[in-house]
Amino acid sequence: MLENNHEDHNARKPLIFYVVIVTTIMLLLNAFIFPALLARQVQVVGYSDFLSWVADRKVSEVSLTQEADQILFVAKDDQGQEQLYKTAVFPDDGLIDRLQEAGVRFSAEIPMRNNSLLSFVLSWILPLALFAGLGRLLSNQLGKRMGGGLNALSFGKANAKIVADRETGVTFADVAGEEEAKDALKEIVDFLEHPDKYAGIGARLPKGALLVGPPGTGKTLLARAVAGEAKVPFFSISGSEFVEMFVGMGAAKVRDLFKQANEKAPCIVFIDEIDTIGKKRDGAGAIGGNDEREQTLNQLLTEMDGFDGRKGVVILAATNRPESLDPALLRPGRFDRRVPVELPDLAGREAILRVHAKHVKCGDNIDFREIARATSGASGAELANIINEAALRAVRLGRDTVAQGDLLESVETVIAGYQRKNAVLSEREKRIVSYHEIGHALVAAMQTHSAPVTKITIIPRTSGALGYTMQVDEDEHYLMSREELLNKIATLTGGQAAEELVFHSITTGASNDIEKATKLARGMITRYGMGEFGMVAMETVTNQYLGGDASLTCSPATSEKIDAQVVAMVKEAREKADRILRENEPKLHELADYLLKKETITGDEFMGILNPESAGADA
Ligand code: ADP
Ligand code: MG
Ligand code: ZN
Repeated sequence: MLENNHEDHNARKPLIFYVVIVTTIMLLLNAFIFPALLARQVQVVGYSDFLSWVADRKVSEVSLTQEADQILFVAKDDQGQEQLYKTAVFPDDGLIDRLQEAGVRFSAEIPMRNNSLLSFVLSWILPLALFAGLGRLLSNQLGKRMGGGLNALSFGKANAKIVADRETGVTFADVAGEEEAKDALKEIVDFLEHPDKYAGIGARLPKGALLVGPPGTGKTLLARAVAGEAKVPFFSISGSEFVEMFVGMGAAKVRDLFKQANEKAPCIVFIDEIDTIGKKRDGAGAIGGNDEREQTLNQLLTEMDGFDGRKGVVILAATNRPESLDPALLRPGRFDRRVPVELPDLAGREAILRVHAKHVKCGDNIDFREIARATSGASGAELANIINEAALRAVRLGRDTVAQGDLLESVETVIAGYQRKNAVLSEREKRIVSYHEIGHALVAAMQTHSAPVTKITIIPRTSGALGYTMQVDEDEHYLMSREELLNKIATLTGGQAAEELVFHSITTGASNDIEKATKLARGMITRYGMGEFGMVAMETVTNQYLGGDASLTCSPATSEKIDAQVVAMVKEAREKADRILRENEPKLHELADYLLKKETITGDEFMGILNPESAGADA
């Protein structure tokens, strides 16, 4: 993004530099120059000395101060130089006669000689000038820091980044997949391009649209693409920026943001991470702690109500926790339109990979579909990262193009955490992990509906998993049948089933499997109507994204029955897994030994050992 960079040239030196310089000058002046000058300039003498100098005709000029308590006079010193002296007034009626007699000029003013003028300048004007200079400098620097330029009073200015049309440079072509979201936003683009068309018919367009979806799905990217498509300025500010500011600044910043936007209409105002300021207001609670945020939110609501929607200012906002937003934000006339931005599906992932692969040099025969298959559940940001990691790996290995192997390797790096080759497992632990992983794979492979295994490894990942079985669905589907779900649960229990069958004991390594199996079973019973209760919703998911907690909506008695059903369902699946493994025990041993030796095996190798005949026929 483009920020104001001109004039920064002479402001490069840090503020403290100037402060130190000015302070040093002031200290030096005060310590040496002023006292010396002034001491030389005005010497205090006694009244008797004054009288004797008058008598000696050394005094040329005498002046009484305005308060008539001091006499300032000019007299020649020993070297014959004229100097300024002062003495306290002593009751003396004959003074005037004596001065007249000695031919001294006298007055009631301070004689302003050249030297004393200099001292006046040095002691008063110069420090003032320095202070004024320093003040200006400080305010300029602060102004710049606040993004407000030269004005010393610009503390409240929003430093929303103003990006002109050509600068965002992002169009819908840069956003792969997300067709529904793009369709919803196209209307806004059209509105920004031809506001008259809509105003003519009297249509009231939504003032704001809320982009809602998990992190990394391209919400920020989409907002910028809308500005890029409509070729209008793009003001963006992040909710977290408000929170970092001084007390009282948030509201001022919102006010200023809308003022700027009104001047630049048609344009887009984008508030990223709006949940940081738009959280539900809860009257009670923290003492004073939330005042700042509430003020900012109230200001935002006021501004949204206040401005004229027909001018062509569209407010976009993004959040990944829509359920935590204050309902006031979602009322008509505010963010009344909601644009879901979901995790990409198989086709979407492939498209995103292709968009980002354009930025790196790829080898000829890259199979993006394979990478897309292996990355179910990955966000756009993670896919972009996979491409970049692959490019880094290619460089590390001294190649100048990215190969399929780089991509496959970086899938694991990004999705499953970096390989921890130096974390040593004992031989016995490795054996257990081998059987555990083969247990999953074998149960999956023997159930017709389960997805074939593409990769099994016992190399530990930093994510904490000791080994993992990568299961990839041949074709992604959203609708899973009851059988498929049950098979999945059986597969999850397969790891522990194998451990128990072979070692007659179980380890703690299966906690994640157990958790997943329980969740699936619970979901089937309480949400998908696949349990004994039929089509009765027992749970509602409060947070749709970010994993979400489900909350029960049934009585404690029913809840007990649900628990019993979950236990029964998982137990049944486990019995199925036990049966499969017992029936195929020789294969279990053969495969586990092979995995132990190779540490990582592919799905093809696995299938080759499982069905030597058909694999041989294929080859
Ligand atoms: P969000 O704001 O939803 O958290 P971002 O818009 O910041 O996500 O996305 C981060 C990065 O991920 C983008 O800059 C882009 O490189 C990549 N990305 C995410 N989604 C997509 C997509 N649909 N198409 C292309 N790139 C994407
Ligand atoms: Mg974002
Ligand atoms: Zn497991």
